[in-house]
Amino acid sequence: MTRKRLVIGNWKMYIESAESAKDFARVLKRKVRGISGVEVALAVPAPFIPVVSAMLESSAVRVGAQTVSGLSGAQTGGVSGAMVKTAGGTFALVGHSERRALGEDNVAVHGQLVAAASAGLVPVLCVGELERTEDGGHFSFIAEQIRSALSGAQSLAGKLVVAYEPVWAIGKHADSALTSAEVREMAIFIRKTLADVLDRKSALKVPVLYGGSVEPANAAALIAEGDIAGLLVGHASADVTSFVEIISACKK
Ligand code: PEP
Repeated sequence: MTRKRLVIGNWKMYIESAESAKDFARVLKRKVRGISGVEVALAVPAPFIPVVSAMLESSAVRVGAQTVSGLSGAQTGGVSGAMVKTAGGTFALVGHSERRALGEDNVAVHGQLVAAASAGLVPVLCVGELERTEDGGHFSFIAEQIRSALSGAQSLAGKLVVAYEPVWAIGKHADSALTSAEVREMAIFIRKTLADVLDRKSALKVPVLYGGSVEPANAAALIAEGDIAGLLVGHASADVTSFVEIISACKK
């Protein structure tokens, strides 16, 4: 049986009201009903998890958080994995580059990954280099992000997703995204790194997604030729028509 593809939308802060979030979810639910071969998920701002998951209750679309805290107790503004879970979330992005840019380092990301998994959420580990250099330093950079996030957490392999999001390709347009060949090369490298950190069998269970300027114009080529299990979509996921077009491009 072939595995379904996975398309995750990351709303970031693009959708600003609970009303717009509900309207989006209502339309999405209708448009993806009966869609075959693709699993759909939305990483929404934490305050909208309850309304969006209530709206999507009888649908297969999953709802999750854009980050979780790896800490507990006296942490003003923190949101734990358990809070996300009670609010209706089933997964959480961890290590997104926009969080790393705020100072969350590999150690913090490891803590968040473990906290998310311990709360029963699927962690979606985001990795990506800031820039590419001639000497291929981006490969060792990605390997280190994966190794440190999974250090001592190998048992989580069966419940993990990895999303490759080169920081320099985020928030642009389809023509600035990676080519399918570049995505394929990194997807192979990530699976090899996972096989070193976990073991070959466990590594094969981890879906590797690509994210960074995915739009309707490039989604079909990336999914067909990029050797990836799915897509993580930022700005284009905040427009329901674009998001549905991307999902449709991933149908099997
Ligand atoms: C992201 O930041 O997760 C992302 C994929 O953004 P965009 O699609 O806007 O490049």
